[in-house]
Amino acid sequence: MSLTAALEQISAELGADRIATEIAGYQSDKTVAFTASPMAVIIPHSETETARCMRILSSFGIPMTARGGGTGVTGGAVPLDAAVISLERLNRVIEIDTANMTITVEAGVRTAAVRDAAASHGLFYPPDPASLEDCTIGGNAAVGAGGPHAVKYGTTKDYILGMNFVTPDGTLMRWGGKFVKNSAGYALGPLIIGSEGTLAVITSLTLRLLPLPGESIDILASFASLEGAVDCVGEILRGAIAPAALELIDGSAVALTARHAAGGVCFPDAGAHLLIRLDGADTDTVERSFAMLVRLLDARATGYLRAAGAEDSARLWKSRRAIRSSIEAESPEFFAEDPAVPRSEIPAFIRAVDAGIRKLGAQAVFFGHAGDGNLHINILKYAMPDDEWQLKKESIRSCIYREAVRRGGTITGEHGVGYLRKSHLAALYAPEELALMRRIKQAFDPDNLLNPGKVL
Ligand SMILES: Cc1cc2nc3c(=O)[nH]c(=O)nc-3n(C[C@H](O)[C@H](O)[C@H](O)COP(=O)(O)OP(=O)(O)OC[C@H]3O[C@@H](n4cnc5c(N)ncnc54)[C@H](O)[C@@H]3O)c2cc1C
Repeated sequence: MSLTAALEQISAELGADRIATEIAGYQSDKTVAFTASPMAVIIPHSETETARCMRILSSFGIPMTARGGGTGVTGGAVPLDAAVISLERLNRVIEIDTANMTITVEAGVRTAAVRDAAASHGLFYPPDPASLEDCTIGGNAAVGAGGPHAVKYGTTKDYILGMNFVTPDGTLMRWGGKFVKNSAGYALGPLIIGSEGTLAVITSLTLRLLPLPGESIDILASFASLEGAVDCVGEILRGAIAPAALELIDGSAVALTARHAAGGVCFPDAGAHLLIRLDGADTDTVERSFAMLVRLLDARATGYLRAAGAEDSARLWKSRRAIRSSIEAESPEFFAEDPAVPRSEIPAFIRAVDAGIRKLGAQAVFFGHAGDGNLHINILKYAMPDDEWQLKKESIRSCIYREAVRRGGTITGEHGVGYLRKSHLAALYAPEELALMRRIKQAFDPDNLLNPGKVL
């Protein structure tokens, strides 16, 4: 392995500016207290340049970690004895095809830019991770990102029709296209979705778009108990309401946000909140859904309010997004888990996990995407001594994953495995299933050069 020779070759073939001189910004993602220095940071300017850089690096045996926006929360983009391939210059919207309702973008385009480009043509790209201003579409595909809209519209994977990707030896490959159906051969694209940069580097994506919904309403409902809120979630989903978002905020998160968020929260003493968005093509459709929802809320909720307009809606969603900063204000050190369970299991799951975490001497705050059964569990360190905190973290993770799997769920619904969770995959998969995954990894990346130390 000669890093110097590899970098010299990249400089000679593509230009010295393809190698970053400032590497501090590439040592971490948004995972608390997890950093590593990259061997080098390579910034290709195009798909073909990405392939050439990867061919050169692999010919010298240099491991590589792809980086999008660096907003991951499991350490996936943190390079462990690897060079970083930053997709930041692959930031072009290649084409919006209104006839086929698709958008083709390079992997480094920010998710918000995909949404905005689609909207400028009256079209809708629904996946909406809360980090969408900073994360990239390639990172979303690599992790299988979701967001509040998933309850009605699905996650990133449901919108990927085509993908260009580079295997570690520098071969640029294509899968899919603008067509909606495809049953030819093994589905390589879906295999790469969620592989967190361990099988290939995604360089561009063709995404399906929908018509932009013309109208939307946001409603905040309060409940006496978590059980009451979750029962109502089931009824909302079984009815014909089809909410565009259905977020659960447990009493623990309501109280914390009431304490720390500027402007406070509505219904601060509630046992739980549901934040609900209804959308549709026109006012009549949305008002019909609202009337159905009100019948349910009158019977179940202790109160509700309907946002009076865009400003009011923004205020409701702002206090939902303020949960993370309120947690930081309460306890700067914390870690976040995002298991998913069948929806009906949510109350029992929260009760069991809460009891388990308390038994281990820690405290958790719960909220999440109730419609998908995907919960965000944040465990706060408070004044716990560092050594005790380090020891307890893994026991707490094990407790959460054990409960999720026992109830027919999974250890992560949208954030991925990355570095932090890889030792816990065995809680979910049988040894022969993990062995098959390792053989797939071997087929794509025989020399283990892509994102070493992650996922498996
Ligand atoms: C405040 C906040 C809110 C968040 N909200 C949500 C949410 O609502 N829903 C959700 O799902 N997640 C959420 N996340 C997590 C994170 O934003 C997502 O996982 C996002 O998809 C990461 O994208 P990124 O471009 O930042 O990827 P990075 O962090 O750069 O990388 C993530 C992983 O993907 C790999 N990767 C990146 N780009 C490529 C590529 N082009 N080809 C191959 N592999 C690649 C990396 O190697 C790494 O393993 C949130 C994070 C924060 C900090």
